[in-house]
Amino acid sequence: MKIGFIGLGNMGAPMAANLAKSHDVVGFDTAAAPAGLTLADSAAAAAKDADVVITMLPNGAILRAVAAEIHPAMKAGAIHLDCSTVDVESARAVAAVADAAGLQAVDAPVSGGIGGATNGTLTFMAGGTAEAFATVQPLFDIMGQKAVHCGDAGNGQAAKICNNMILGATMIATCEAFVLADKLGLDRQAMFDVVSTSSGYSWSLNAYCPAPGIGPQSPADNGYQPGFAAELMLKDLNLSQMAAKAADADTPMGQAARDLYAQFVENEDGRGKDFSAMLPRFAGRTRH
Ligand code: NAD
Repeated sequence: MKIGFIGLGNMGAPMAANLAKSHDVVGFDTAAAPAGLTLADSAAAAAKDADVVITMLPNGAILRAVAAEIHPAMKAGAIHLDCSTVDVESARAVAAVADAAGLQAVDAPVSGGIGGATNGTLTFMAGGTAEAFATVQPLFDIMGQKAVHCGDAGNGQAAKICNNMILGATMIATCEAFVLADKLGLDRQAMFDVVSTSSGYSWSLNAYCPAPGIGPQSPADNGYQPGFAAELMLKDLNLSQMAAKAADADTPMGQAARDLYAQFVENEDGRGKDFSAMLPRFAGRTRH
C-alpha cells in the first residue's frame, strides 16, 4: 500500500516508522523531520499518490486545514485516516468533505501513548464505513494490537472522549481518596490492597496507581514524569465538554474534572507533569 503520513510528532513519527517497515510511506510535517523516513515538501505532495493518507495532528482546526489541502490532491476512492484526537464535530465535517470529494474517511484516535506508538501496541477506536474500516485494518494491525469499529464517522472520537472523561474523573476520585485515607491514618498500601479488590477499583488505581511505591510501576514511581501529561488530559476533557454541550448531555463529573485539570495546568504547577500528579496536588491542600 502507498501511504502518506502527515504529522510526524511524538506519536506520528514512530507510527510512520512502523508502517515503513512493510509499506511505501511518504511523510510530511511542518516542523519535525524524523530520520529514516521518505519526506515530501508539502502535505499535498505526500498525499498525491497514496491509497491511504494518515493524519496525526494537534487539533481539529489544524486537521480541517490539512484536509482542505490534501483532499483535492488525493486519488479517487483513497482513504483519509485521521488518528489525531479532535472534536467530534471536526471529525464529522472532515468525513463529509471527503465524501463530497469522492474519498473515504475514517476517524481512529488512539490510546496507548508514545510507548504504544513505538511498540506498535496502540488501541484504535474507529468511525467510518465498514468497507473503509476493513481496508485500513491491516494498518491498524501494524501500528496497534486492537482496533474497534465504533460506527459511523465521528464515533471513534466519541468513544475516545467518553473513555477519557471516565479516566479523568476516576483518577481525581482515586487521588482524593488516597489523601482522605492519609488524613484518617490509613496506610496507603492497605488502602490499595482493599480498594484494588473491592468495588472502588478502576484502571486509575489498579493499573496506574497515583501513589508512589504502591501497586504496579507507574509515573508516580518516576517523579510524575509523563506518561500521559496533565495538559493532554485537559485537552480531552475540554473535547468531552464541547461534545456534551453540542449534544445537550448533562455531564457534571466530566465538567468538574475539566475544571480541576484546567486549574492544575493553567494556574498551578501541573504543566509537564503526569495526570496522576493530582495526588501530590491534593496532598498539599487543606479543605478550606
Ligand atoms: P505532537 O505535537 O508531538 O505532533 C503533532 C505534529 O503535527 C507536530 O510535529 C507538528 O509539527 C505537526 N503539524 C502541526 N501542524 C501541521 C500541519 N499543518 N501540517 C503538517 N504537520 C503539522 O503531538 P503528538 O503527541 O504526536 O499527538 C498527536 C495527536 O495524537 C494529538 O491529537 C494528541 O491528542 C493525540 N494523542 C497523543 C498521545 C500522546 O501520548 N502523545 C496519546 C494519544 C493521542
